[in-house]
Parts: sequence; structure tokens; C-alpha cells
Amino acid sequence: MFNVEKIRQDFPILSRKVNGQPLVYFDNAATSQTPQQVIDVIVDYYSNYNANIHRGVHSLSQEATDKYEAARHKIQHHFNAEKAHEIILTSGTTHGINLVASGFASLLSASDEVIVSALEHHSNIVPWQMLCEKTGAVLKVIPMNDEGELVKDIYNDLLSDKTKLVFVNHISNALGTINPIEHIIKKAHQVGAAVLVDGAQACPHIKPDVQALDVDFYVASAHKMCGPTGVGMLYGKEEWLNKLPPYQGGGEMIAEVTFEKTTYADLPHKFEAGTPNICGGIAFGAAIDYLNNIGFDAIATYENELLDYATKQLLTIEGLKIYGTSKHKTSVISFNIGTIHPYDIGTIVDKLGIAVRTGHHCAQPIMDYYKIPGTIRASFAFYNTKAEIDKLVNALKKAIEMLS
Ligand SMILES: *Cc1c(COP(=O)(O)O)cnc(C)c1O
Repeated sequence: MFNVEKIRQDFPILSRKVNGQPLVYFDNAATSQTPQQVIDVIVDYYSNYNANIHRGVHSLSQEATDKYEAARHKIQHHFNAEKAHEIILTSGTTHGINLVASGFASLLSASDEVIVSALEHHSNIVPWQMLCEKTGAVLKVIPMNDEGELVKDIYNDLLSDKTKLVFVNHISNALGTINPIEHIIKKAHQVGAAVLVDGAQACPHIKPDVQALDVDFYVASAHKMCGPTGVGMLYGKEEWLNKLPPYQGGGEMIAEVTFEKTTYADLPHKFEAGTPNICGGIAFGAAIDYLNNIGFDAIATYENELLDYATKQLLTIEGLKIYGTSKHKTSVISFNIGTIHPYDIGTIVDKLGIAVRTGHHCAQPIMDYYKIPGTIRASFAFYNTKAEIDKLVNALKKAIEMLS
């Protein structure tokens, strides 16, 4: 049974006050909160076995290495990767995308094309633009419609034997739309293109199976999945990871170094130069355990209830317009009220203890599509409640009164 009150007790931050009011945290699409079970793992690491990994013969180093590699296996099993060395631990989604984009610089030429979608976070746009500048490859864009969905037919038309790579997010952080990545991957493979899926926004809500998807690269960040900041994962099919050159040079990523020639280590170490976020990687594993203990089916069912409830309640406010109205979406609601600037509303509801995000949500092309400077975004997690949504609705009504 899903017991939200019991779950909330796992999150110490949820019982604090902000501006004298109980915190209502609706900025989960930017980062999630951390349960005590994960905090304990972080404290345990620094209290008991902090040491550098893969190097020392001493016991602490062994212990840290074992726990770090155990976390890699947890991540592997969670995403159903075939091999543990197909999981590269990164500093997050942005790092994973840059690693792949930088690697493709040696594989693309000016006659090649790559495809992005109109619904992307800047971190899944800018690294590829840099790649195109370097190689001369041409960037094509899958357009979106008014509901905030990708237009499949145009995507099919963009594909050709020139297409080498397609990169899309699994779920849009700005609108919550779940993209048809199964279709996108299948079609891309028919023309021989590889696909990278940005799963940063999907992984808090669903459990992707990289083998069933047959995706070539999949990236995620721990901090959106109840884990710490500064750590994430890149899944890559072994054959692709072997094809890409190393991203950074340094310690850990080499087999042998002389001034004449350096040879690189095998996967995954080839892509893990330098001392990684050891504690973060171990805590990422603990966060995955935490989420799986609750269960992704239970999480999805409950979050959909919150989404439906919030959508209905928000639409009772006169002049409120929701952006992103696809039937396939997760618990993110982007909206504006009349012509009031989102920032003004965000500031007032913060005074009432409610954390929402305002602005372009690192997805400026979406805002340009709707011809707006930004939105107010309320994004819900499994530890939020309907009572908190009621508070938001009341706070918005107060803000409207004050601003009009
Ligand atoms: C948060 C997010 C990112 C960036 O993640 P970082 O952890 O900041 O690297 C990229 N894409 C999407 C869809 C996101 O939601």
C-alpha cells in the first residue's frame, strides 16, 4: 500500500519551514529531495570508509572500491544494461551528453546530419551545436505542436541515409510530455543512425529498460532520483563505447603511459578519468534502492493522481493557461495566469512557503514556440500531497489579488 504520510517521514527537509510556512516543494523537475536512507549512506561513507578507489591495496580503498562497483551493478540492473561496463559513472546528464557529443566529433563529417527535437533541455542542444560547428554536420529539428508533442510524421521525413545520430529527451522537463522514443529509436535504426536519449526527467517517474528500447545511449542524473548532485550515469552499448575516443585524459583511464605513447584502459575506466564522485556514486545506488522499494508502478499511479487533481484544480483559476496538454505526460504542469509575469507569481508564492520554478526551464525554444518569456512550473513527486496542491491553488489566488 502506498502511504504518503509514512514516505514523507523519510525526507527530513519536508518538515522544515520556509518564510514561516511549512515547505511545499514543487520544484522536483529541477532537483528531487533526499531521503534519510540516502543521507545515511553519505554520512557512513565519510565517517567510515572514505578512500580513493581502484588504486590502494589497503582495506579502506578495497571497501570503497567494492561499494562503488556494487553501485555500478545496481545501476546496471536498474536500467537492465547487459554489461556492467556499459555503465559509465558521470557527474550528471550534462556530462554524459558532452562525452558522447565530443566523441562523435571524430566520427562525423560535413555531409552528415544529426537530429534534435524542439522539446529539449539546453544541455541536449548546445553540446550538439558545438559538435556541428566542429564537424560541419547539419542539425535538423523535429518540430512540436500546440499540445507540446513532437510531430512524428515530420521526424520520419527528416530521416535519411545522411542521418548519423538522433538525440531526444525521454520526458520534457518544461512540459512533462512523454516522447515516443520507441518509435524514434526504431525509425532511426532503419536508416543506420544511433540514438541518445536524455532520461534526466524520465528516471524519477519510470524505469527504462535500455535493452528493450534498443537505445544506443541513455543518460540520467542521480539528483533527480532522490540521490545527490554531481553524479549520474551514461549507458552506452559496448560497441559504441568502444568506437568513441576517450573524453578526458588523466589517471584511471589509462593502461600504460610513456612519453612516446599512451594506451587506454578498458571500459568503463576509459571514460572515467580522475578521482570520481565516489560517495555520490555509492549514494546513487542507495537512491535507486530507495525508489525500487517504493516501486515505480506505485510511484506512477500516485503521481498521475496528483497530476489529474492539480490540473483540475488549477483550471478553476480564471485566466490560467496550461502549456503541455499531451495525454502522455508526467507530473509537471507549466502555466501562466493572464498577462502576469511568472516571476511575480513565483516570488509571492515563495513568501507562502511554496517552491515553484519560474522562467524558461533551460528550454528556451519551447518558450519561443509559445511566444512567451517563460512559465510557472509546478512539478510533483511521490512525496507530495493533494493538500499541498490546495495550498498552491490558494496561494495563486492570493497572488492574483495582490497583482491585479
Ligand atoms: C535536469 C535535466 C538536464 C540536465 O541535468 P543535469 O543534472 O543538470 O546535468 C537535462 N535534460 C533534462 C530533460 C533535464 O530535466
